Amino acid sequence: MASSDDRKEQTPQQILKDVMRLCADCDTCRTMMEEDCAFFLELYRLWDQEHEDGVPVTESQLRYLAELCTLCGLCPCPKIPMDVMEAKSRYIEQEGMPLATRLLNDVPRMARLCGTFPKLVRAMQSNKVFGPLLRKAMRIHPDRDLPSFPKQNFFEWAARQGLDRRQAGDHQVTYFVGCTAGYLFPQIGRSVVEILQHNGATVHVPPQQCCGMPYLVEGDRKRTLHLAQDNMKQLLQARKAGDELIYSCPTCGYFLKKLLKERAYYSDPFQKSVDAAEGELKVPAPEKGEGQFWILKKSMYHDILKDDGYFSSIDPMERIRLSDHLFDFGMYLTRLHAKGRLATDFAPMPERLAYFAPCHMREQKMGRPYLDLLTLIPELDIEEVGNDYDCCGMGGVFGFKDHFHQKSLDLGEPLMKKIRDHAPQAIVTDCMSCRLQFYHCLPYPVYHPVEVLAKAYRSA
Ligand code: SF4
Ligand code: SF4
Repeated sequence: MASSDDRKEQTPQQILKDVMRLCADCDTCRTMMEEDCAFFLELYRLWDQEHEDGVPVTESQLRYLAELCTLCGLCPCPKIPMDVMEAKSRYIEQEGMPLATRLLNDVPRMARLCGTFPKLVRAMQSNKVFGPLLRKAMRIHPDRDLPSFPKQNFFEWAARQGLDRRQAGDHQVTYFVGCTAGYLFPQIGRSVVEILQHNGATVHVPPQQCCGMPYLVEGDRKRTLHLAQDNMKQLLQARKAGDELIYSCPTCGYFLKKLLKERAYYSDPFQKSVDAAEGELKVPAPEKGEGQFWILKKSMYHDILKDDGYFSSIDPMERIRLSDHLFDFGMYLTRLHAKGRLATDFAPMPERLAYFAPCHMREQKMGRPYLDLLTLIPELDIEEVGNDYDCCGMGGVFGFKDHFHQKSLDLGEPLMKKIRDHAPQAIVTDCMSCRLQFYHCLPYPVYHPVEVLAKAYRSA
């Protein structure tokens, strides 16, 4: 395995070969992830091809392998998928980003295009001649259901309500909406606002862009870092003005709260801020209690524990500050409830629902805040489906891609079966990518937990 200084010189192929060697030596994910991750399935297939059958892995096989990691975060070592992201970025730096990939990931641009050329979208969905051609140009699988963009997006609605300007109030909350709730499912954003206002908060929706996750997964480093820095600036400014910061999309949260902060604790500014002694590294140890640290010998770890990851060009203290102050909306409401400040005037809802906790939410290790909140609704029968490794298989926009569509359905099938067996009246999940996959595979309506909570307030 290359040291962090050698890493700078490595080609994407060398990085992927290192990943293959490490995971083949360890071998844990060969059986643990075989049903849940297309990347590991392919990695071990290629390893066996080279080492058992003597057929060397080709460059195109390595390129395809990199494509298969969607950064779902389910595997045990965070370093592995981040190394794959590094390899993807180096590929894109050499090859450039294909237009179809760029368009598919740019939800705001797609929303604008669909608003401007509604006939194009209708053609893509139903025209027997142009539909397949357009899908082919966009590399979208012919059988994949396409979402439709609503006439008014959340940001337009929020501006009409005056939420784009900071208003006076004792309890100010800044909301990071994300692209999918912003442009595809504005009812989710409106429900968040409704719940906050019902609980006496003043809501602010500052200028914001895509969180950056889709670009990170596709290997567009320049755009990922640019978006991350822009959003950080807006959010930290709001925090400085006294706002609490929330998000309702687990993928935006996983990116802004967890990934951005990776390795920031090893930086010199952080070590200085916690008075680490000469020759020591202090690493936060929340498992030991608040404000506790693991103390490590620098001489042993200084080569591997460095702030030299994907986001190291961004101020580490700002990355930590954002992570410390930005909260999942379910978590935020749970904390409000613990302080006795959450309105609980919910109307009874005699329905039978199934809750699925998405990968990027599970990876934030915060329990199941929405499930706890939904049990406050009288007469609601809600049960969690899926275990810690179940995944819908959609992988952001990967399920749309022609070469990934079938894999995406196969990966999601064990979870779909569990939901079918449960036969709920509706599915509840916080992830909008899962929602698109559920719409494609199952006959049930799908809601974000905030839509259910807002409805229970409204009905009361
Ligand atoms: S991801 Fe980690 S646990 Fe899984 S095989 Fe690779 S090194 Fe082992
Ligand atoms: S992040 Fe997800 S897709 Fe990538 S290797 Fe890990 S489990 Fe597989």
